[in-house]
Amino acid sequence: MLSAPKGTHDLLPEALATWQYFENTARSIMERANFHEIRTPLFEATSLFERGVGDTTDIVNKEMYTFEKGDRQLTLRPENTAGVVRAYIQHGMDRCPKPVKLYYLGPMFRYERPQAGRQRQFHQAGVELFGLDTPQSDASVILLAWDLFTTLGIPDLALEINNVGCFDCRDDFKNQLRAILLPFKDSLCEDCQKRYETNPLRMLDCKSEKCKAIYASEAVANFLEADHTCEACQQHFNALLIILTQCNIQFHHNKMLVRGLDYYTRTVFEITSTHLGAQNAVCGGGRYNGLVKTLGGPDTPAVGWALGVERLISLIPPQHPASLDFYIASDDPGSALLLAQQIQHQGFSVEVDLSGKNLGKQLTQANKLQAGQVIILGETERQQNQITLKDMAKGLQETVDKDSFLTSLKRPPVSSVLR
Ligand SMILES: [Zn+2]
Ligand SMILES: [Zn+2]
Repeated sequence: MLSAPKGTHDLLPEALATWQYFENTARSIMERANFHEIRTPLFEATSLFERGVGDTTDIVNKEMYTFEKGDRQLTLRPENTAGVVRAYIQHGMDRCPKPVKLYYLGPMFRYERPQAGRQRQFHQAGVELFGLDTPQSDASVILLAWDLFTTLGIPDLALEINNVGCFDCRDDFKNQLRAILLPFKDSLCEDCQKRYETNPLRMLDCKSEKCKAIYASEAVANFLEADHTCEACQQHFNALLIILTQCNIQFHHNKMLVRGLDYYTRTVFEITSTHLGAQNAVCGGGRYNGLVKTLGGPDTPAVGWALGVERLISLIPPQHPASLDFYIASDDPGSALLLAQQIQHQGFSVEVDLSGKNLGKQLTQANKLQAGQVIILGETERQQNQITLKDMAKGLQETVDKDSFLTSLKRPPVSSVLR
């Protein structure tokens, strides 16, 4: 029997009710904050991710789905920031009024060992704000994520935040960090010994107990406790913390937080929920002032975040597919289908018999489908331009004029409910 590939999953209608609830809520909150959706291709040139995500990262070294077609090297997107930045540059969006505010929702692909909450095809939602380098813009995207999680009812939220410095001060910090860790270098794990050379900041992310113990030791901890960023970076960070306090967002300044990707500058953050246990981040992001230029665009500051949808969905109370509003029982398929369409246009869900069952069996079917109301459209009703409405739960029924019934149906169309 054929089954879905390892690390992928089918989303069936029962589960999708919760997904759609999340997606509708997310779209609505982002659109109201004046972010607009962007959809980029599921695959891009491999070099985009090598340059944009960084060729020292696990994502690029171990986890990408790369393939060749013709003379092109292509990769299924492992994340969406690089693709959005590529599109921003390609379509000259730097000429749009600043800031340019975009969001996305969709599948990403990483070749990882499948484990709880981690899939090879997984989904992310995220926002990117281009063109401003202010603490206000950092605060606005954090506030947006916080609003989304609060609206979705995610329990026990916390904001972990750090300042990793800019291009002016980060190299100094890296060198100082190398100097302070030199005596411990041989005791570090294999990965950290590589990171020591290539990207020492990422050593602080290490999950190995022996490395964690070294970074928590007195000399290293004292060094990390001090602020090593330049004055401009410190002012930016302090201003951001003041705004977050004004917006009632409780944060924890976590000096070990560096995030896995190379392109972050100044602000990095994660939003966590203690309900998730050890892997407790629901959302991560930060400022990435160098990325647009790195990918060949004009020097453009930017800030954003991404969230893992699967992980978030596990925290949302399960939703159920919408119930069926009407079932039309009729011995005349044409009249039934026409009436169904008229009711659907009023924003209600309708089912009709498509199998040629007799009226009695159609009523049984309406019961099985748990329709809220059954509309009986028999010969008598059709002659009088009437319908018989039957409330299945209450067992009540009445015959009414069809046109007045249709005008009495008023529900805003589905698309406007979201706004
Ligand atoms: Zn700096
Ligand atoms: Zn390590």
